[in-house]
Amino acid sequence: MNMKKFDVWFVTGSQHLYGEETLKQVAEHSKTIAKALSDSKQIPANIVYKPVVTGPEEITKLCIEANTTEQCVGLITWMHTFSPAKMWIAGLNALHKPFVHLHTQYNRDIPWSEIDMDFMNLNQSAHGGREFGFIGTRMGKNRKVIVGFWQDEDVLNSLETWMRSACAWHDLQGAKIARFGDNMREVAVTEGDKVEAQIRLGYSVNAYGLGDLVTVINEVTDAETDRLISEYEDAYDLVKELHPDGEQYAALRDAAKIELGMRRFLEDGNFKAFTTNFENLHGMRQLPGLAVQRLMADGYGFGAEGDWKTAALVRVMKVMSTGLQGGTSFMEDYTYHLDPKGMKVLGAHMLEVCASIAEGKPRLKIYPLSIGGKNDPPRLVFNAKTGPALNACMIDLGNRFRIIVNAVDVVPLGAPLPNLPVARVMWSPKPNLNIAAAAWILAGGAHHTGFTQALTTEHMEDFADMAGIECLIIDENTRFPDFKKELRWNDVYYFMQRGI
Ligand code: MN
Repeated sequence: MNMKKFDVWFVTGSQHLYGEETLKQVAEHSKTIAKALSDSKQIPANIVYKPVVTGPEEITKLCIEANTTEQCVGLITWMHTFSPAKMWIAGLNALHKPFVHLHTQYNRDIPWSEIDMDFMNLNQSAHGGREFGFIGTRMGKNRKVIVGFWQDEDVLNSLETWMRSACAWHDLQGAKIARFGDNMREVAVTEGDKVEAQIRLGYSVNAYGLGDLVTVINEVTDAETDRLISEYEDAYDLVKELHPDGEQYAALRDAAKIELGMRRFLEDGNFKAFTTNFENLHGMRQLPGLAVQRLMADGYGFGAEGDWKTAALVRVMKVMSTGLQGGTSFMEDYTYHLDPKGMKVLGAHMLEVCASIAEGKPRLKIYPLSIGGKNDPPRLVFNAKTGPALNACMIDLGNRFRIIVNAVDVVPLGAPLPNLPVARVMWSPKPNLNIAAAAWILAGGAHHTGFTQALTTEHMEDFADMAGIECLIIDENTRFPDFKKELRWNDVYYFMQRGI
């Protein structure tokens, strides 16, 4: 994915009151800022300067145009002067794309010895931005407000984060998610209202019989399989059982065929994410493990056991993290290390952890899989890089969706884990395991997550705001009594907000 294919419009609000000369200056200043953003290495999307808007018709026209411009993912709005905000009502009512309010000023410093009324009339963002802010709040519009000088790193960071979320939101609209089989039987949190998800979040989820996938897998040729296996040989350390003369080579060929078949199915159907279910493998020789790991590494969202909400969320996180250091994967809180000196979580899954989070070259191994009653699947086994990371999940509470995010630190393993047949990550949750796990559980957080070493809680918050859904952050500032209150207050707020 290349974010430069997405446009963010730089829109400056003003009015006619000041005369042509001032408006010309406003336009010049806007162009300068738009160009600086465009040239900044930090800004991932393409910045498009839009002529200064000075009246309600223009504003409305621009907002409608933004809605219908495919590559436009959102608007940066800036009030250099004063733009009476009733002019914005029709436009903001029509606007369906996310917007950020950049509350900045062209001049960083007050020119102490020269400042006169002309300067004041030109540089009046301090109150022009408040007028614009009022109408956003009056209309109940979710938007991010970024305050500071437009060249400051903090401002650019915040804009970058918002822009990444806007690209992910854009990518999600109309996205198709394929479910191979349905839900793991009796599991609750992976279920949910797919119609509501499509209304609120823009993506559609549809199930496919395993036979449809198996048909495509069976069409894979030996020559294609050979080519893919040589790719495996280049990318990974293969254990000797998986070499051409090894006793498990046939299982590797099966895995390669599954990958080629799944890839073709997903490409032909233009899917962005998918789910599998180990209870639903009719006609397949093994649970897709390596295939899922590699498809995730190529940007597909994934959820195991039919978990379509996590599949969509992993896709969102993959898009947001495009080009950043650090990987993103489907994840599960697997087992605990409850040493009071430092309680930690060992994260993993049966097979399906994305090698984008791997430290070093992954090993391609084969182990028995005690679940599912199929042949042993090859899988990539590796440790993750240490450093800051986060886990995020999305749940369906029946009356709304909720995102829960926990900031964590990936820490070294206590020792090598020679008998553990899966990729693994060890983390220490913030503020500590006691509070983090209790808060997560009371919030109804899932056992499946999207795990990332590329994003921050701010990315997830920005995304939730665009989607208009609840977002709970568990981090170093989380205190238990406050968190419990937030849960109760949010129940009321979202109930009221939705109405009947
Ligand atoms: Mn699972």
